[in-house]
Amino acid sequence: MNRIGHFVDGKRVSGWSERHGDVFDPATGRRTGAVELASAADVNRAVEAAERAARGWRDASLSRRTAVLFAFRELVSARRERLAEVITAEHGKVLADAAGEVQRGLEVIEYACGIPSALRGGFSENVSTEVDSYTLRQPLGVVAVISPFNFPVMVPLWFVPVAVACGNAVVLKPSEKDPSAALLLAEWFAEAGLPDGVLNVVNGDKEAVDALLDHPAVRAVSFVGSTPVARYVHQRGSLAGKRVQALGGAKNHMVVLPDADLDLAADAAVNAGFGSAGERCMAISALVAVEPVADALVARIADRMAGLRTGDGRRGCDMGPLVTSAHAAKVRSYVAAGVEAGAVPVVDGRDVTPDGDADGFWLGPTLFDHVTPDMSIYTDEIFGPVLGVVRVGSYDEAVELVNANPYGNGTAIFTNDGGAARRYQHEVEVGMVGINVPIPVPMAYYSFGGWKASLFGDLHAHGDDGVRFYTRGKVVTSRWLDPSHGGVNLGFPTQT
Ligand code: NAD
Repeated sequence: MNRIGHFVDGKRVSGWSERHGDVFDPATGRRTGAVELASAADVNRAVEAAERAARGWRDASLSRRTAVLFAFRELVSARRERLAEVITAEHGKVLADAAGEVQRGLEVIEYACGIPSALRGGFSENVSTEVDSYTLRQPLGVVAVISPFNFPVMVPLWFVPVAVACGNAVVLKPSEKDPSAALLLAEWFAEAGLPDGVLNVVNGDKEAVDALLDHPAVRAVSFVGSTPVARYVHQRGSLAGKRVQALGGAKNHMVVLPDADLDLAADAAVNAGFGSAGERCMAISALVAVEPVADALVARIADRMAGLRTGDGRRGCDMGPLVTSAHAAKVRSYVAAGVEAGAVPVVDGRDVTPDGDADGFWLGPTLFDHVTPDMSIYTDEIFGPVLGVVRVGSYDEAVELVNANPYGNGTAIFTNDGGAARRYQHEVEVGMVGINVPIPVPMAYYSFGGWKASLFGDLHAHGDDGVRFYTRGKVVTSRWLDPSHGGVNLGFPTQT
């Protein structure tokens, strides 16, 4: 049995924690590892290592920091296949999708390689006679990153490279469901020259999260996960005086207008609905068909679904299993609830014959038509391969539906009418919008984040927001001695 410990102060450690969690291969249902679940005392050891390291790392030159980031980029790029295999073995997503996740993470490392530009400040000469003002952005110290199961590489890489590039030390707490990839990233960062203690990984569950939220040396928390936990992390972290960005769950709508290219829309709905078995925060789960397109659109989607292969992610299938048997059972119960509530199951994924071990956590792609906004398959984030079609009569009804939803992570509109698309991008209350693009995940040099119950806090991940989140601004007003300006004056300083 593979025992999965922590990575603290530059090395793997195990045997610290008494509690363990089970790690599974979702495609076989077999238990493949036992992950240590950190106690508060274990977390404190990691934070102490980070505190010690942060003192030196904040003073490391930008050249030195970027040299480490460039080297780390090369290591991850050269070993992307190995990383993808580790993701697939614990998460279940198909290898090609895992490789795509690594690629998106690499893009954030590349963004962080350009940190000298992002950290440039402003300078104003002679704000008063012979007085200059300029700005600095300085690191916070120790920051925590808490990540979900669905992107065991990409989500840690949304944050860690930027935090480190800004001169902080990090304690990363990955999901206990797929903890191995984060340990590899930490090892490779160390190999790239990152000093001991600048990146630490503690594996664990709520106990570790609470210890990070309460630890006074942790200055900021970047969290990604479900909405109830995101809300809790934001509240508890904020009460403890920390800066918190907590990205939560989603219910992403794709609106299809009558003039859309229906083949393009059907391809997009299938890709965005069932990729990664729907376990993506940017997955499309509600398809809003503006009549009269619904019949034709549903037929095209069902047609494409007939060709999808569900199975072991190492066998070239289109879609893998769900992450755990408990999650698979939960998603199945939503499918049952949809049928019970009167939605029409056009394709029922419970009937799937997977290309994989019988004990895997399977559910095939599922398509419901005639979903109404009161049904649980519409109101809840299912986080599985379940796509529901809601039929509406007009564009206005579609926007009203999307804006009434408590979540606001991503959305897409499919149309050939530029005016309608522009109106949608203006009116919709969602943080990331796609126009004829189903999963509008911003590139690393823009910032990723939703609105409403999809994000608690002010700043989004990576890009400019990421740099602002991991730094504090300082303004310096400076005058170098000139004997002609001597003399006492108790008046309030003004510009002269
Ligand atoms: P989760 O909320 O169960 O867990 C996320 C993290 O919080 C994990 O590290 C977990 O150990 C920890 N955690 C779990 N319960 C906790 C508790 N009660 N107290 C403190 N910490 C706790 O989420 P998940 O199931 O791992 O991930 C799926 C969720 O993440 C979905 O809701 C998905 O939409 C969301 N997600 C959002 C984004 C985004 O950008 N908004 C991105 C990816 C995933």
